Amino acid sequence: MREDENRYETVIGLEVHLQLKANTKAFCGCSTLFGQKPNSQTCPVCLGFPGSLPVLNEEAFYSAVKVALALNCKIQDLIKFDRKNYYYPDLPKNFQISQYDMPLSYDGAIYITSGPEKGRKKIRIKRVHLEEDAGKLLHPEGANYSLVDYNRAGIPLLEIVTEPDINSPQEAYDYLTRLKAILEYLKVSDCDMEKGSLRCDANISIRVAGTDKLGTKVELKNMNTFKGVRLALEYEAKRQIALVEEGEKITQETRLWDAEKSLTTPMRTKEEAMDYRYFPEPDLVPFQVDKAVIEKIRRELPELPEAKAKRFSSEYGLSEYDANVITGQLEMADYFEECAKIYQNRKTIANWLMGDITAYLNAENLTIKQIGLSPSDLVGLFNMIDEGTISGKMAKEVLIEAMKKGIKPAEIVERRGLSQISDTAALERVVDAVLARNEKSVDDYRKGKKNALTYLIGQVMKDTNGTANPALVNVILKRRLGD
Ligand SMILES: [Zn+2]
Repeated sequence: MREDENRYETVIGLEVHLQLKANTKAFCGCSTLFGQKPNSQTCPVCLGFPGSLPVLNEEAFYSAVKVALALNCKIQDLIKFDRKNYYYPDLPKNFQISQYDMPLSYDGAIYITSGPEKGRKKIRIKRVHLEEDAGKLLHPEGANYSLVDYNRAGIPLLEIVTEPDINSPQEAYDYLTRLKAILEYLKVSDCDMEKGSLRCDANISIRVAGTDKLGTKVELKNMNTFKGVRLALEYEAKRQIALVEEGEKITQETRLWDAEKSLTTPMRTKEEAMDYRYFPEPDLVPFQVDKAVIEKIRRELPELPEAKAKRFSSEYGLSEYDANVITGQLEMADYFEECAKIYQNRKTIANWLMGDITAYLNAENLTIKQIGLSPSDLVGLFNMIDEGTISGKMAKEVLIEAMKKGIKPAEIVERRGLSQISDTAALERVVDAVLARNEKSVDDYRKGKKNALTYLIGQVMKDTNGTANPALVNVILKRRLGD
């Protein structure tokens, strides 16, 4: 980092678009199934035929309310939709049904933690509103034409906008991770960035640290992973600081992140809201939601990541940080709890999950459910360590093989003959052989060179291919050496 970069503070706001899980589209009965034949899931409503009328999808609407409540938002008294007018080939109606001045919900917040030493930070949610997705343009390589698929047009979409409370690319990453965790807990979306069901745009500006006035903001698009968001923001903050340092002005514009070249390029200067000529959607009548219905949805919300982390701390004695990491993914949290039911040393479970297992999952881009290691298999491995059947070091190797091949750890230990030799008579024979050929070390030890013992233990481990129980070897050796 350049020294002058420390003088500046980054101000970031994020806008997430989330496809809601629903069997049918937001305003018509077309299927939302992913990966079907292009344009096979369309009808007069989502293609914008004259005279066709939209009807709000109840399932999508209640999912939206669920998300809003989980993000601690207030729910609007009157639900109203607006038309956002613009022309683009992927928008057959020439307008998008969205919400403008009266979003479904507003004034929420979630909390992030950026590391073991950092405390909680509040990120305010400005608004969460319901709208519909656009279709998809495809540009076949080398062709001088483009194709359009309207299967996505009309899929229910939630827009979640933060206040500019995020002050670093890392905080942006942490916010997205936490938001995704909450959404996964709610089971309202598959949150798959690769399929485009979760997308993120960012606004970023810089200002001299400690000042209040916001700088000119730039909007960033085309980030396809959370890491991409972090990289794009890092690049953009540096670019803006360099411009300001050189006395240049920052242009208010939209820039595209180029993941391959690791830089942002200008796309267009930003439109203002008035360019869209928003007006109330005349085909959808504003309506009120019964307060009792909202309270019922609130009561039925599942236990969310923060509450679960608190419970894991008090119930299982995990540190705040560990509990936060483990509950950061619903699958991981459930897995931990399954293990905790049948194994008392919870810190051990957390350590293995957060260490070797997470490292393997990240490297292979897998989730814990996708590997063939059940909670009882993992606990079986812990029991083998506790009983002295295998060493901790060996257990790590067994674990990796178990995850890779989907074989039970006990089976691997059995098949590879990895069981530790805990049979005293067998070990005594090995120890005697080692002592017989290492007279010098024995002498050294008796003369007071205590670290000769370490050498002798090493020899025994070598002779047994590491399968000897080290504690037992220690006892036998000392006994033989007359200690
Ligand atoms: Zn349709």
